[in-house]
Amino acid sequence: MKKTDAQIFLAYIRSLLLETEKAKLDREELSPETSELADALEYLGECVREERLMLNALSQGDLDYDASQCRNYLAAPVKSIQSNLHHLAWVARRVTQGDYKQRVYMLGSFSDSFNEMIRQLGENHAEVEKIIHRDPLTGVGNRRFFNKTVEALLAEKKRFCIAYIDIDRLKTCNDTYGHEEGDRYIRSVCECLQSDSIGGESLFRIGGDEFVLISTETDARTLDARLQKALENYTEAQERIASYPCSFSFGCTDVKGDEDVNFSEVLSLADKLMYNAKLKSYIRRRHYPDYAKNPEEGPLDKTGLESRIFTALSNCSANHYTYLCNMKTNVSRWSLSAVFDFDLPSEYMLAADSIWEERIHPDDRAAYRMDLEAVFSGRKPFHNIEYRARFRDGSYVRCTCEGCILRGNGADEPDLFAGTLTNHGVIDSVDPVTNRGNVYAFLKLLLHKRLLHESAFIMILGLNQYVAINNTYGYKVGDQALKLFADRITGLLPASDCLYRLDGVKFAIVLPLEKQTEAAGLFDSLKAIAEKEIFVDQCHVPLSLSGASVAFDALTVNESTVLTELTQLLSEAKQTHASVLYEHAQTRAIQVQKHMLLMEAVTKSILYDCRGFFLVYQPQVDGNRRIIGAECLLRWRDETGGTVMPGSFIPWLEKGSYFYILGLWIIRTAVRETREFLKIDPNFSVSVNVSYRQLENQQFLSDLLQLLAKENFPKQNLLLELTEHCQTLNIDLLTRTIREFHRQGVRVSADDFGTGYSSFSLMKTIDFDMIKIDQSFIKNIRNQVEDQVMVESIIRCARTLHRSVCVEGVETQEIFDFIRRYHPDCYQGYLFSRPISHPQMVERLGQTL
Ligand code: C2E
Ligand code: CA
Ligand code: CA
Repeated sequence: MKKTDAQIFLAYIRSLLLETEKAKLDREELSPETSELADALEYLGECVREERLMLNALSQGDLDYDASQCRNYLAAPVKSIQSNLHHLAWVARRVTQGDYKQRVYMLGSFSDSFNEMIRQLGENHAEVEKIIHRDPLTGVGNRRFFNKTVEALLAEKKRFCIAYIDIDRLKTCNDTYGHEEGDRYIRSVCECLQSDSIGGESLFRIGGDEFVLISTETDARTLDARLQKALENYTEAQERIASYPCSFSFGCTDVKGDEDVNFSEVLSLADKLMYNAKLKSYIRRRHYPDYAKNPEEGPLDKTGLESRIFTALSNCSANHYTYLCNMKTNVSRWSLSAVFDFDLPSEYMLAADSIWEERIHPDDRAAYRMDLEAVFSGRKPFHNIEYRARFRDGSYVRCTCEGCILRGNGADEPDLFAGTLTNHGVIDSVDPVTNRGNVYAFLKLLLHKRLLHESAFIMILGLNQYVAINNTYGYKVGDQALKLFADRITGLLPASDCLYRLDGVKFAIVLPLEKQTEAAGLFDSLKAIAEKEIFVDQCHVPLSLSGASVAFDALTVNESTVLTELTQLLSEAKQTHASVLYEHAQTRAIQVQKHMLLMEAVTKSILYDCRGFFLVYQPQVDGNRRIIGAECLLRWRDETGGTVMPGSFIPWLEKGSYFYILGLWIIRTAVRETREFLKIDPNFSVSVNVSYRQLENQQFLSDLLQLLAKENFPKQNLLLELTEHCQTLNIDLLTRTIREFHRQGVRVSADDFGTGYSSFSLMKTIDFDMIKIDQSFIKNIRNQVEDQVMVESIIRCARTLHRSVCVEGVETQEIFDFIRRYHPDCYQGYLFSRPISHPQMVERLGQTL
């Protein structure tokens, strides 16, 4: 070895020690015979550099540091590496000092220390792997490891199946029993998932309460059965240990290696299955009261129906449902999955044949009746018929219904009518009236676009006041006009398959993104056709058109969210932009996308035990500014910790069925939290907003009463605020409902009185306990004589009818002083307090504001 070589090596090692990042071996100056040594040193240098990076990342808590990017993901404590490097430096120094005689020995020692270093690095490798890839609580693989594993399986085009598992009500457990118990719950589920494993399985914890199980040796069905069994054993075993129900939901799917699937598709499919599983478990947990159309008929007689075999059979398959009917009592029992899928009122029903008939496609009902009659009269031994039945999402699925009568002897053994219903899946993707794709075809297209991250320009169209057309011309002409309209406008579109008829008189047109610039022109032409060119039997049927359009750069949100959003945009368009296209510039489209993501997250939150929602309280005071109660107001916390106001999601949520679940959560939380207030002020009254979606649900009152009884909450301390929307419900229904509330001792108030549909006659007809005068009358009351007259009249009228009055939106002392002359019973507004948290409310009780 020449002296220069040694110097170069020394310089390299020194810079490796001091400035790892910059160290570079000057190979051009080295003599050729040192090339092997140079390779080895460079390799070593790379190890040191990567290790530094990794240790840095780990020390900063970044366990997701992508160590796989390193060619050799080795790591060792810096110290031992440094000591080896020091040794190397010493060797190099000796060489540079001309100790050539020692060369052979030196090189031997050099390679020894090199090997020792590699050994140490290797030893630490396993430890680091563990830190990077394992979940510390359960010891199973973490999300990072899961991603890697799936990517590897997909790359190798291996066949495998995957189960997405979610622990039920972990949040409730954490909130009620503390995090230690929550950890135990998680670990117990994890143990359960690992016991009785079929082999070839790997378990990962990919989120707080989410696990994924991958199996390379079995299929989704077998895995599903294994997990179902594990779940049963688990819930049974946990019943003895835990004081709350422990369970998990799961969904399984096969991934066939031969197809070109990508990672996000696999995840989204598994997630969807899990979501379904969650829904199913939700419905199993939910208490369904027995259903009789007339409640006076008393409790249903379940003789002959409560068989465990029925339960077992009805759990067997997702697309087979079971039903059993005692022909003497005419009470039936249906699989819970049927109750859920077909939105039946309950598991046990009186006269289920007619309830079911309502779900059968009108064209198939006669055949259904005839077949049933033939069986009941003994003319036919078996009930066996195919028909279309309406699924909970409104689509029709083709079903085969089979059944037979089992004759019994007397009361102990009643005659039973039993059978199964097989769901062959959604069939109709074509709208029979217009012969265009229907809402399901549209949803399918959106799904497709989402999976491929494709862009789209969507125009949604609605025909205004079609009820009037149907009433004037009759339904037949109405349908013909719809078909004509669809046919005529197709000529203006690039292809006939970009037009879809959604529900009712709504259409969607899906175009390539670049067509966005022509949108306004297109809409004007469509409008002209609608207004002038539709003739049925030579009679002109003038149609009026509303429309909204949005451009999506790449669809990333769930298709039903997109549909709801489009519908929402259309109704905005109808209200404010009648007959002009309600166009959304790109910036607005981004807002729409954002809003949709928010809605998706909020909806998901509801299904996950309403996590993320919380309540704030706005104090209500009397004339002396003493707190007498509070209105509870809903908030949602997004994943960044920001607070989202109800105005941005409640109107949207109210359109779907999940609001009901959230509504009960709000009441439960409000009464639980108010119990604290009652300890300080037993007369405190909490007002809870109730939406029309809750009120129109026939189960609402009984759910409410059950909840209040369970929470042991005094009814007189609760006041339900019916929003203005509720007041648009059928007046008879509203009167009856409120009478029923009163009979049960629940008080109700009319929110936002004076706006929209709420009128004086409503105050007369409905026995509200309190009238809340809307803020809009209060803001300018000092200067607006009209507002003064309104407020004075409302209050006078309320007094005469013995209703109390609350004035909302009192923002300034001047307004307060002004309004006091009318002597309302209570005041609410920013002057006294903005909505505050529960602990803040506890602090302020008993104070004057
Ligand atoms: P609302 O029932 O009329 O509630 C009163 C709203 O007015 C609240 O807004 C409150 O913060 C605001 N407010 C109170 N005092 C003043 C004031 O002096 N000046 C002004 N400018 N505003 C004041 P928030 O919390 O954003 O709620 C908006 C609406 O969202 C509510 O209107 C209600 O319709 C709905 N909402 C809120 N929470 C719930 C809930 O738990 N269930 C249902 N169904 N709806 C809710
Ligand atoms: Ca309110
Ligand atoms: Ca209000």
